[in-house]
Amino acid sequence: MGIYHRPGKLKDALAVLATTGARPVAGCTDIFAATEAQELRDDVLDITAIEELRGILKTDIGWRIGAATTWSDVLCTKLPPAFDMLQQAAREVGGVQVQNAGTVAGNICNASPAADGMPPLLALDAQVEMSSQTGTRIVDLSEFVTAPRATTRRADELLSAILIPDAGVMGSSRFLKLGARKHLVISIAMVAVRLDVHDGIIRDAAVAIGACGPVAKRAKTLEQALLGTRADRADRLVSEVHLEGVLSPISDVRGEAGYRSAAALELVRRGIADVLETIP
Ligand SMILES: Cc1cc2nc3c(=O)[nH]c(=O)nc-3n(C[C@H](O)[C@H](O)[C@H](O)COP(=O)(O)OP(=O)(O)OC[C@H]3O[C@@H](n4cnc5c(N)ncnc54)[C@H](O)[C@@H]3O)c2cc1C
Repeated sequence: MGIYHRPGKLKDALAVLATTGARPVAGCTDIFAATEAQELRDDVLDITAIEELRGILKTDIGWRIGAATTWSDVLCTKLPPAFDMLQQAAREVGGVQVQNAGTVAGNICNASPAADGMPPLLALDAQVEMSSQTGTRIVDLSEFVTAPRATTRRADELLSAILIPDAGVMGSSRFLKLGARKHLVISIAMVAVRLDVHDGIIRDAAVAIGACGPVAKRAKTLEQALLGTRADRADRLVSEVHLEGVLSPISDVRGEAGYRSAAALELVRRGIADVLETIP
């Protein structure tokens, strides 16, 4: 059986990682679900006692979501409208018990194609702060998760924070998820939309889609098409042509590939319409 480490300081956690290669955990809501053995065999590094890693802070250049921040913390924090999509996703990650224990960082590091946190964070231009005893590096979230269950994390690194630059916090946003039922369900498709509109013209657009490919992705071609467009014409631009390369879903027990693509397209349409409705 492995050793259970639960330090109270980040520097001690990084020392554990450097010397033992322990597996970082937070809420354990993904790890327990994936563990078939009676016990975890490897060393475990529990980060939930590290107070400096908990909470969402405004910084000089953006926002910082500490690695021990739970989905319930996200829901309890007053944030600008661009974060609405992240809070809407928070409300749909499992039930309240899972939201109380599960962290945003754990959702990302688990690298599930159906991780509900990914589309909103991508649409907020999120980066991840990776810390180790040798220093800190900042990686774009779009480059951090590389494939199902795969990230660019080194064994001696901890994801210490998720960083949102001020530029990613412009405008209003919406998260929409389709599952086989309304709550407590793994996504068939989900989208996050953020639009910044001035005088009826779209000045900034971010659209991200999840559960429709190995990793969640930004719909860059659609975003480009939306820029400078009159808001009341946005709907016409949502087409398969503008989502080419973003949708590559598999067929599985939750849905056929064709159904997933059609659902994603419709969710993008509805997401854009919902955001535009909130803008006076
Ligand atoms: C009943 C149930 C319902 C669920 N419903 C949903 C849902 O609707 N949508 C959804 O997206 N997910 C859902 N999940 C999955 C899970 O709750 C979330 O992904 C959650 O955010 C994971 O966070 P955690 O802190 O529990 O991660 P953990 O289980 O502690 O860790 C997950 C992975 O991330 C790694 N990790 C964790 N923190 C760090 C860190 N700081 N640095 C480096 N690596 C780290 C761990 O090593 C592990 O590989 C559900 C789970 C359960 C049990």
